[in-house]
Amino acid sequence: MNARYAVFGNPVVHSRSPQIHQMFAEQEGTVIDYRRILADNNADAFQAATHIFFHSGGHGANVTLPFKEYACQQAHERSERAVAAGAANTLIRLSGGRVFADNTDGAGLVRDITENLATSLTGKRILLVGAGGAARGVIHPLLACRPAEFSVYNRSHDKAEALAQRFGIRSLHLAELPRSNGFDVVINATSGSLNGELPALPANVFRNCQLAYDLVYADQATVFMLFAAANGAARIADGLGMLVCQAAESYKLWRGFTPDAAPVMEALRREGRP
Ligand code: NDP
Repeated sequence: MNARYAVFGNPVVHSRSPQIHQMFAEQEGTVIDYRRILADNNADAFQAATHIFFHSGGHGANVTLPFKEYACQQAHERSERAVAAGAANTLIRLSGGRVFADNTDGAGLVRDITENLATSLTGKRILLVGAGGAARGVIHPLLACRPAEFSVYNRSHDKAEALAQRFGIRSLHLAELPRSNGFDVVINATSGSLNGELPALPANVFRNCQLAYDLVYADQATVFMLFAAANGAARIADGLGMLVCQAAESYKLWRGFTPDAAPVMEALRREGRP
C-alpha cells in the first residue's frame, strides 16, 4: 500500500497541496496517496478526524485553516517553531500512535525569499504588515535570519503590540510609518489582497526597499505588489513560492527527501489559479 498523507481543512476543496505533493513524489520517484479531508469546524471534530486518519495508517498530514491552532494544541509533541507560532501546519505520526506537530510556513517563506528570490535577510530592516495567524507563524523563522531590525504594523494596533511583546520586536503605529527611512524588506501578511484591499501604508516605507513580498498569491500582481513597485520597491513577489516551499519542508520532514520547489512553482504558475 502507498504511504498515506492528507490535508485537513474547512473548506479544503481548493487546497493545492495534493497536486504539489504528487509532483514532489514524482521527483522522488515514488507514489503516495494524498487526499483532502474536510472536518467539521470545531476542535472535537478535528481531533476525531486526525485520530481516525493516523490510527488507520496515515503517515503525515498538512493542516490548513481553521485548524492550525487545534493541530498544535492536540499533538502529543510539538516543535519549538510550532510552539512559537501557536499553530501547526504539519503533523507527523510517531511510534505508538503519537503525533508530532510542526510549522513549516515560516521556513517556507524564508526559503522562498533567501533561495528563490536570492535576498538575504541577515542585517536587513524588515517590516511585517499584519498580525493574524500567518504573521505570527513567520516571525520566529524570520528572526532566526538575524535581521538588523524587525517591526510589525497592523491595522488593529493591539494585535501588533501583542506580537511585539511575545517576540521581543517593535510594533509601529500608522502615524510612525511616515517618519521611517523605509525598510529593506516589506512583507504583507494581511489578507487584504484577497479582496483587492491595500493595507494603509505610506509610500515612503518602500523607499530603499529591496523586496516587497505578499503572502497572498494570484495570477496577476496583487494591489500590494503594484503599490510597492510604484513607490520604489526594487523587487516584488507573491506567496506562491512560500506555498510550495512550506509544502517541500513538510515533505522533507515526512520522507527525508528534499523536493525541488522551482519546477512545481513553474507548473502551478502555468496553470493559474484553480
Ligand atoms: P487572519 O484572518 O488571521 O489575519 C488577517 C490579517 O489581515 C489581520 O492582521 C488583519 O488586520 C489584516 N487585514 C485584513 N484585511 C485588511 C485590510 N483591508 N487592511 C489592512 N489589514 C487587513 O489571516 P491569516 O493571518 O491566517 O492569513 C493572512 C493571509 O496570508 C491570507 O490571505 C492567506 O491566504 C495568506 N497565507 C499565505 C500562505 C502562503 O503559503 N503563501 C500561508 C499562510 C497564509 P486586523 O487585525 O486589523 O483585522
